[in-house]
Amino acid sequence: MQHENNLSYAQKLDQEDSLKEFRKEFLFPQHNGKDVIYLCGNSLGLQPKNVEKYLLDQLKNWSTFGVEGHFKSATPWMYYQKTTQESLAKIVGAKPIEVVAMNQLTVNLHLLMVSFYRPTEKRYKIIMEGTAFPSDQYAMESQVLHHGFRPEDAIIELTPRSGEYTLRKEDILAAISEHADSLALVMMGGVNYYSGQFFPLAEITKAAHAAGALCGFDLAHTCGNIPLQLHDWDVDFAAWCSYKYLNSSPGGIAGIYIHEKHALNPETPRFAGWWGYQESTRFIMKKGFIPEPGAEGWQLSNVPVLQMAAHRAALDLFDAAGIENLRTKSLALTSYMQFVIQEKNKSLGYEKYKIITPLNPAERGAQISIICKEGGKESFDKLVEQGIIGDWREPEVLRFAPVPLYNSFEDVFQFGQII
Ligand SMILES: *Cc1c(COP(=O)(O)O)cnc(C)c1O
Repeated sequence: MQHENNLSYAQKLDQEDSLKEFRKEFLFPQHNGKDVIYLCGNSLGLQPKNVEKYLLDQLKNWSTFGVEGHFKSATPWMYYQKTTQESLAKIVGAKPIEVVAMNQLTVNLHLLMVSFYRPTEKRYKIIMEGTAFPSDQYAMESQVLHHGFRPEDAIIELTPRSGEYTLRKEDILAAISEHADSLALVMMGGVNYYSGQFFPLAEITKAAHAAGALCGFDLAHTCGNIPLQLHDWDVDFAAWCSYKYLNSSPGGIAGIYIHEKHALNPETPRFAGWWGYQESTRFIMKKGFIPEPGAEGWQLSNVPVLQMAAHRAALDLFDAAGIENLRTKSLALTSYMQFVIQEKNKSLGYEKYKIITPLNPAERGAQISIICKEGGKESFDKLVEQGIIGDWREPEVLRFAPVPLYNSFEDVFQFGQII
């Protein structure tokens, strides 16, 4: 697409946008009496307007029914997690039985490691990104230590080649086959939080399996951002949070996917709790854990209904918009952002804003990461003063996410003017 760097062009794209009405479904923070230009949905998504109603409904159920709300509410709390399975399954490309919303992301990473990181003396290594999100690094290290291995031996970190910012596919696949004899698990992000690189998940999974290892992904920056086919790609497991692209409230309930070949197998090892117990007989309260088939068999505790209500409200918007439609708009929005940044550099006569996110749209989602030639942190602070919310990641990266549910082409154009 040949873009133009002017307001009427951006407004024309907005008029033609079939998803433009969704912007009205969100609450924007204000700056000098106007909506901020919010480009931070990769960190915390905006509040959908319908969240308040969903929360009030559940408060009402609580006051009306007390404990009986577990059975008497319009959507009984006893089964409330089921109300999100179909929507989540569409977003990650899975069967509803393979997904469930529960806990928090890092908690879930640990629970999934219990099931899928079962190191032996011979097979104990984990391949991950060298620049993985810190929580993932700490989780993997502590898992390795917990099993009596040393992180220096057991964790293989993939880092970009010197002078590069993203991982090359051939290097990822080569590392997997190089460590094939000792590899237990490949555990990577779907989209790297720092560079915005979207990894080739299907090929990584295939290579991991060919090496005799399992494969899981942290989809914190992928879920609700890029359509996935986790089941068809034969991914073993995945986890995500819901407060980034899924807009489901700060620290909101997270989610997991487990391929049915593991999830339907009662022998798959796991940490157990009563909410993962076979639903039909859960309240007989007998000794001896019998798992509910599917991802629900990994639940430990009863459902945090208020968090789940916010999640359900946000997922209504995904059901209505459709993840494939969102991706189509996202590709256009992000390419427009790339264009306005490149135009800015041209007008300055040098590459002040270096884009480190892949320029190939197939290898990225709704995020552009930039390294400033000079004064990165000051540039960022000035943007905030002028009503642009992005984020700053130490040591030197500015991240901006034009989110297709609520950002407009005009937002991106104005961003280019202000930067
Ligand atoms: C946002 C993010 C987290 C945050 O973990 P929480 O347990 O939700 O606090 C972890 N990992 C990745 C890759 C993230 O992007």
